[in-house]
Amino acid sequence: METRVGIGFDAHRLEEGRPLILGGEVVEHPLGLAGHSDGDALLHALTDALLGSVAAPDIGSMFPSGDAEWKGAESSVFVERAVVVVAERGFRVQQIDGVILAEEPQLSNYMDAIRSRLAALVGITESSVGLKATSTDRMGAIGRGEGVAAQVVVTVVRI
Ligand code: MG
Repeated sequence: METRVGIGFDAHRLEEGRPLILGGEVVEHPLGLAGHSDGDALLHALTDALLGSVAAPDIGSMFPSGDAEWKGAESSVFVERAVVVVAERGFRVQQIDGVILAEEPQLSNYMDAIRSRLAALVGITESSVGLKATSTDRMGAIGRGEGVAAQVVVTVVRI
């Protein structure tokens, strides 16, 4: 059985006047993530991990930020399309593991809901979705609260 791994990383700035959406969940916070789409850095990292696992072009190639079709788009659309690409290339998703890097807000109350959403989006059980959140101990741009980043690893197996 052929197994492959994909990795994704993304970071977006926090700014006023936007909702904070992470993993498709609305998180209560005075600032939200900037972006052409809804700015969901976790779902963007997941999308790139999925695409990378089958050596497909990355999220910026598939969903260009200059394309009006993706303005304000819910990032779940990118994940759903990436899952289709994985299937078209003969693989299915087996497992996800991710980490959100944010100084604020505190995300512990949202983790279960985000995990459920990730599992449903890619069609696997919650027991196959790992998710963590960490601060960066006030170091660097993330530590100063300028933005939020996410890293995701996925495992896929040949169908
Ligand atoms: Mg992004």
